[in-house]
Amino acid sequence: MEYCELGNTGIMVSRLCFGGLVIGPLQKNLSTDEGAEVIAEALSLGVNFIDTADLYDTYRHIRRAMEITGIRPVIASKSYAYDREEAKRTVDKALTELGLDSIDIWLMHEQESEHTIRGHWEALEYYLELKQKGIIRAVGLSTHHIAAVKAAAVFPEIEVIHPITNKAGLGICDGTMDEMLMAIKEAYEAGKAIYGMKPFGGGNLLHSFRECVEFVTSIPYIHSVAMGMQSLEEVRMNVALFNDLEKSLSTLDEYRPQTKKALHVDFWCEKCGSCVERCKQKALSLNNDGLQIDTGKCVLCGYCSSVCPVFALKMY
Ligand code: SF4
Ligand code: SF4
Repeated sequence: MEYCELGNTGIMVSRLCFGGLVIGPLQKNLSTDEGAEVIAEALSLGVNFIDTADLYDTYRHIRRAMEITGIRPVIASKSYAYDREEAKRTVDKALTELGLDSIDIWLMHEQESEHTIRGHWEALEYYLELKQKGIIRAVGLSTHHIAAVKAAAVFPEIEVIHPITNKAGLGICDGTMDEMLMAIKEAYEAGKAIYGMKPFGGGNLLHSFRECVEFVTSIPYIHSVAMGMQSLEEVRMNVALFNDLEKSLSTLDEYRPQTKKALHVDFWCEKCGSCVERCKQKALSLNNDGLQIDTGKCVLCGYCSSVCPVFALKMY
């Protein structure tokens, strides 16, 4: 496994990052032990970087994996907090559930532009205070927006950027992948740490798995790439790809990544509209026939299911 310094943070990470979303309740919903087993496999094979979020409910899986392996990985988490109180609550929850005194990276979740960054400034100031105390090592943001990458590049307070990055540009809300790459390059050259997300478009691009891997691993402006992994087989395949891309690509045609996921709406949907409002990809709408999913826009994140009051949205 290849490791590098994550921008100017002084944090060494593996080029492959374990994307924690997919094992949690918003997607595969593995039990604590099942999820921990998958994470532990990644850790034991050299992956030292885990991405999660307050929303994902995966701290317990990560904690158990650390107990099993005795390995303390680099952990990045995220929060939607915009004020000090919520920022404190979410960081405290992460530390308590992970059983740690400090966390490596804390991100402002789903930022869109300079304006949303300013709207979360009180929370950002709290994270920077924790950084001064050594409780957080680096602060940043995650985003599906080119405008947020451009803005983050010029804010000295923001050290880490976690942008959506896949060959089709799927999920980018305000432009093309080429434009996103230009923004990422500028941020990288400004010394920002960059780790990509959704290299397979949340699963939509699994039919061209090989091209997706070749694309994302060839970008010179990315320190690490978060890949969601739900099984031991996926962990072993992804680690093999990152250890020896050429050799692994030659055997890739025999590999069948997990069948395509899809978002499903159960018949008891009450048409309340909460999920429509929640989806920042604008992939959901309501009409007389009920809830409609635009599969061309949906990145299969599962975030919409977190706000459904009757648990009518499921990913499988
Ligand atoms: S519809 Fe749901 S799963 Fe699809 S992009 Fe929107 S929030 Fe994510
Ligand atoms: S949040 Fe749930 S109940 Fe409301 S419209 Fe969406 S799927 Fe239906």
